[in-house]
Amino acid sequence: MAIETYVALAALADGEGLIYYGQRTRTPLPAELEALLDGGMVQMYFGSRDARVYLWLLDGCTAPGESALPAPSIYSHPVLAAYVRRDRGICHLCRYRVVPNHRYAEARPSLDHLVPRVEGGSDYPSNLAVAHQSCNKARRDLPIEVARARESERSPWWRRHVA
Ligand SMILES: [Zn+2]
Repeated sequence: MAIETYVALAALADGEGLIYYGQRTRTPLPAELEALLDGGMVQMYFGSRDARVYLWLLDGCTAPGESALPAPSIYSHPVLAAYVRRDRGICHLCRYRVVPNHRYAEARPSLDHLVPRVEGGSDYPSNLAVAHQSCNKARRDLPIEVARARESERSPWWRRHVA
């Protein structure tokens, strides 16, 4: 990404990388945003007649809790795809590839809460990381380091299908 584009988007995004764009301003959508929408780097996740909210995911662009906008739904397929791109298609627990639409559900991506929901963890980008459905389930609410150590010692049957 060109540095000018990065700067333009950083000026629009809040701490969590969320961008609010109101139609009432009657200004055209910034060209940078249009280009990144086309390239899949920015994902619109809320839209109404008057306003749209975009998710911009880039390493290091999130600051926990610095957003007044609603968090993107973690059950949205396009949103999940955006996180998979951000995390380079790697499960943060076992470090193997996640494969969208893999024939085995275990190998497909899901969103893991770094701070579990039961401990007050949010659905904002700073608290989410891509994990295999199976690794996510196996972690339950274990601390991240414990879950990672455990996954590095396990070799479940499905993992050879993503190696
Ligand atoms: Zn995994």
